Amino acid sequence: MTDVLLELSRNKLARQFMSRARLPIPMPEGLRRLPGPRVERFLEAKTVLVSGAGSLAESLSRTLSRAGAMSEVASAELAQLFAPAAEAYARPTRLLLSDESQGASEAEALLFDASVLRTPADLKLLYEFFHAHLGRLVRSGRVVILGRPPDAAQTPMAAAASAALEGFTRSLAKEIGGRGATANLVYVADGAEDRLAAVLRFLLSGASAFVTAQALRVSARAAWSAEDPWQQPLSNKVALVTGAARGIGAATARALADEGAHVVCLDRPEDDDALSHVVRDIQGSALLIDISASGAGVQIAHELEHRHGGVDIVVHNAGITRDRRLARMPESTWEQVLSVNLEALLLVTDVLLNEQTLRDHGRIVNLSSISGIAGNVGQTNYAASKAGVIGFTRALAEQLAGRAITVNAVAPGFIETRMTQAVPVLVREAGRRLSALGQGGLPEDVAQAIAFLVEPGAAGLTGQVLRVCGGALIGA
Ligand code: NAD
Repeated sequence: MTDVLLELSRNKLARQFMSRARLPIPMPEGLRRLPGPRVERFLEAKTVLVSGAGSLAESLSRTLSRAGAMSEVASAELAQLFAPAAEAYARPTRLLLSDESQGASEAEALLFDASVLRTPADLKLLYEFFHAHLGRLVRSGRVVILGRPPDAAQTPMAAAASAALEGFTRSLAKEIGGRGATANLVYVADGAEDRLAAVLRFLLSGASAFVTAQALRVSARAAWSAEDPWQQPLSNKVALVTGAARGIGAATARALADEGAHVVCLDRPEDDDALSHVVRDIQGSALLIDISASGAGVQIAHELEHRHGGVDIVVHNAGITRDRRLARMPESTWEQVLSVNLEALLLVTDVLLNEQTLRDHGRIVNLSSISGIAGNVGQTNYAASKAGVIGFTRALAEQLAGRAITVNAVAPGFIETRMTQAVPVLVREAGRRLSALGQGGLPEDVAQAIAFLVEPGAAGLTGQVLRVCGGALIGA
């Protein structure tokens, strides 16, 4: 089902007409997505404005310069911190003047290293920078704010300043979402500075087109070999994607293959045709198994072990909805949803870990949902299963950190797939519009978030729930 408003917004005349008609809902802006697999110089010759000169500036400068960005920095102190990387990659840094936003060139991104902020009074620096320069941000541009986690702050005052960043970022995301732009916050723990690069590459590129108003936490909890290839990061990796015949699973299988992985695509035996199509396109392997059938875990582990020598990446994507208000919900409907979405996921993971099929430095991504965070009428079964997935993810992340295995959940908001086509029309419209970006996401948006989380360089993220929801107001 196409989004008529989004289609109309692509036509200049229709856009003008709709804006004159003063509709109660704004026209959504078409999002700029990744044109292909990840490339190293994804910010080639793009202007990036940077302010705040904290302890993260060095890591920031290295990433921006290597990506090819032209940085304009807000202070001489920051210029000095940026100098070594700027010289190494021949990306001269310019000093940003506070009164030049009129007539100055457009900026691809605005970044603020807020790890310097110690008191709520320091927050004024955020106001000054964004107030002066937000006008330069391009459509589908990026705002990224970096800070230290509030729970690691040394004084309650510093914790307040650090926590304030979250409210600021979420609000800014809502203000700039109408232009297709995103704003996200990254809390970086002490000792995890080197793990910031992969996160910045994701948040500053089209890979994060539908990720906004989020706070990500980068930590040194999971062991890491410092392996962080910027291109083809998944080459020589074997990935398992469940529910890969269509929707988010098919898009994920394609995205992982694009980044170099060999993908084992799993779906139910009756979905053979659709699955074969995906497998052929990406030269992957097919596995026809119902994950909720007894013995499925053992069968999957056996197949991965014997045909591929194990697995590096597991994406538990297969899922179903059977919506009904609880009072009218048949027992079988309750059981079916819990069985596929949660129990099968636990059982399969258990076997892959017990049999040592999942290798060290591995990655697990579990599909949750914003419904599992916020709840939804008619979805007691589904939301329970998806909230359960989050609990499992957090606990397992702790257990596997020593083996350098990360475990994360992705919680999609409204994504245009078969699952959401089944939703009544008014609910569907609400799902699309009640978000910062004013539209539904595409399966590719979720796939790109997953491809990021399974990169070797994404070792800083574990036990997290990454929402890919366009800044949905539901469960905000
Ligand atoms: P979809 O219905 O388009 O695809 C799901 C796939 O899983 C299908 O190919 C199906 O055959 C497979 N599957 C279902 N039960 C299975 C089983 N027992 N064994 C093996 N394969 C099985 O769904 P989608 O929209 O692509 O959703 C993918 C995941 O994302 C699900 O876990 C879903 O809950 C989650 N999600 C989707 C949205 C959305 O807006 N589409 C939002 C939040 C969460």
